[in-house]
Amino acid sequence: MQKTTYALIELQEVDYRLDELMEERGDLPLIVEDLKSKLDVKKSDLELLTSGVKENKLLVKNLEISIEDAKIKLKKYEDQLYQVKTNKEYDAITLETESVKEQLDTFETDIIENTDKIEKYIEEIDILESEIEKLNSEYEENTIELESKMRSTAEEENILLQERKIIIDGFNQNIIKTYEKVRKARDGMGVANIKNAVCGGCYSYIPPQKIVEIKKMKKIYTCEFCGRILVYNKAQDD
Ligand SMILES: [Zn+2]
Repeated sequence: MQKTTYALIELQEVDYRLDELMEERGDLPLIVEDLKSKLDVKKSDLELLTSGVKENKLLVKNLEISIEDAKIKLKKYEDQLYQVKTNKEYDAITLETESVKEQLDTFETDIIENTDKIEKYIEEIDILESEIEKLNSEYEENTIELESKMRSTAEEENILLQERKIIIDGFNQNIIKTYEKVRKARDGMGVANIKNAVCGGCYSYIPPQKIVEIKKMKKIYTCEFCGRILVYNKAQDD
């Protein structure tokens, strides 16, 4: 039974390390995934802004063409004014001229608005590009770390699993069952050291007589309150 007690302590250590490895591995994929989705959002924002710049540049170009057309029209009306013979004709051309001038104003205002938009978009693109660059390097760093961690933890995990198998080989299956059950229910801790007369798992008081029995290591005792297998580890009782 003494052998079993020490083996239980060892088993607990192996399982703690295995839990740690799982935790380490469990975290990084999430970080990488998170960075990836942030990157995707920023990249699609960048695409939208880039096509926005393109569209607005095209709009400005078309407005410039319209302005040129309007100016040609105005010049034509000016020439026609010299040749009018009646007041009616004069009024009609003047009216046309006014309307084209109004159009010209609108075109020019539109050009200013669209040019402002383009400038704003370009500023946003600059910011986005530097954010993407930063995110990208973070993403790459974490991906590399994850890959190397997965490689190294896979190695250690295999060794630990082998150790685990050796430890529990020949173990009383009921003890293993108790251990696994409590471990699952109690945050991964199936074995508790007695320290200063309390259970190291739930800090409940252990009667001296029970401690004497546990020290003898003749039988497996569990904590009445948390159910953990109680062990006495001399080195840890100070
Ligand atoms: Zn306890």
